[in-house]
Amino acid sequence: MKKIAVIVPCYNEEAVIVESYKRTRQALSSLPDAVEIIYINDGSRDNTKALLDEIAEKDKAVKIIHFSRNFGHQPAVTAGINNCDADLAIIIDADMQDPPELIPDILHLQEREKANVIYCVRKSRDGESVFKRLSAKLFYRMMNSMSEVQFPVDTGDFRLIDRKVMDEFNRLKEHGKYIRGLISWVGFKQIPFYYRRESRLAGETKYPFKKMLKLAATALLYFSKKPLSMAMSLGFVAVIVGIVLAIWFTLGKIYGFSNAETGWTSIILTVIFFGGVQLITVGVLGQYIGVLFDEIKARPDYIIEETRNLTING
Ligand code: UDP
Ligand code: MG
Repeated sequence: MKKIAVIVPCYNEEAVIVESYKRTRQALSSLPDAVEIIYINDGSRDNTKALLDEIAEKDKAVKIIHFSRNFGHQPAVTAGINNCDADLAIIIDADMQDPPELIPDILHLQEREKANVIYCVRKSRDGESVFKRLSAKLFYRMMNSMSEVQFPVDTGDFRLIDRKVMDEFNRLKEHGKYIRGLISWVGFKQIPFYYRRESRLAGETKYPFKKMLKLAATALLYFSKKPLSMAMSLGFVAVIVGIVLAIWFTLGKIYGFSNAETGWTSIILTVIFFGGVQLITVGVLGQYIGVLFDEIKARPDYIIEETRNLTING
C-alpha cells in the first residue's frame, strides 16, 4: 500500500485552517492509500497553533511541526519535505486557493504517467490583484530568459513529488531555497496538471510585496549569474559611450560644432552616468556576496519548537 502525504504550510491561518483540514480530509477519504497531513505552523501569532493541536489530538494521521518563529513559506515547505516519509507528497497552501479536491485527479495522473513530479499550472486565477497576476507573469518569463534551468510558467509550489524527488531534495545543501525552481532542477519525469486557481477562502494574503520580492530575489540570485554579466555589459556600454563622447567633443572643438567651454551639462551628465553604472555594478556584486555570506553561515533553514504525532529525524 502506498503512503500519501499532504504538506501544508500555515502562517496566521486561523480563519481557514479548520475548513481547510475538513476539505483536505474529505478529499483524501476516497483514496485506497494510507494518508497523512503534515501541517507546518510557521510561527503563527494567532490561534492557528491551538486549532492545529486540537485537530492533531483527534486525528492521528495529522502531523504537526511548530516552528520557533516565522521563518517563511519556503522553509516551512522544506521542513515538510524533510520530515515526510511517504511515497508521494502533495504540497498545497492552507488557504484553499489550490483546491484539495484535485488531489485524487493529480494522483491519477501521476499513476498513469508514472511521473516523478506533477506540477500544477494555473489556467486562471480568481480574486488576485491585477498587479499580483501581472508581476507573476512577468517574473516567471524573465526567470526563464535568465536562468540555466527552464521553469514551467504560471506554477506555484502546488505540486506532487515522489520519494525519489524528495530524497534528492533532501540532499541539497543550499540554504536559500526556491523550492519550485529546485524541483524543476532535480529533473526526472515532470508532467503538468492544469487547474483554476480559486480565491482565498478567508483571511488575507501572507505574501505582502516585501516577501514576494524576497522570493523573487532568491530565485534570481540562486538560479542565475546573468545579473553579473549584465553588470559587466553595462560597464562596456558606459566605456563605449565615453569613447564616443570623447571623439564627439574633440571633433566638435576642432570643427567648431560643439562648444566644450559651456560643457557643464555634459560633465554633470557623465559623472552621474558613470557613477550610476558603478553603483549598479557594485550593488549586483553585493547581492551575490550577501548570498555567499548567508550560505557560509550555514544556519539551519528553520528551528522546530515542538511536534505532534511526529518524531523528528536527525
Ligand atoms: N505561509 C507561511 N509562512 C509565511 C507566509 C505564508 O507558511 O511566512 C503560508 C500560508 O499560510 C499559505 C501559503 O504559505 O498556506 C501561501 O501563502 P498565501 O496564501 O498568503 O500567499 P498567496 O497565495 O497570496 O501568494
Ligand atoms: Mg494564497
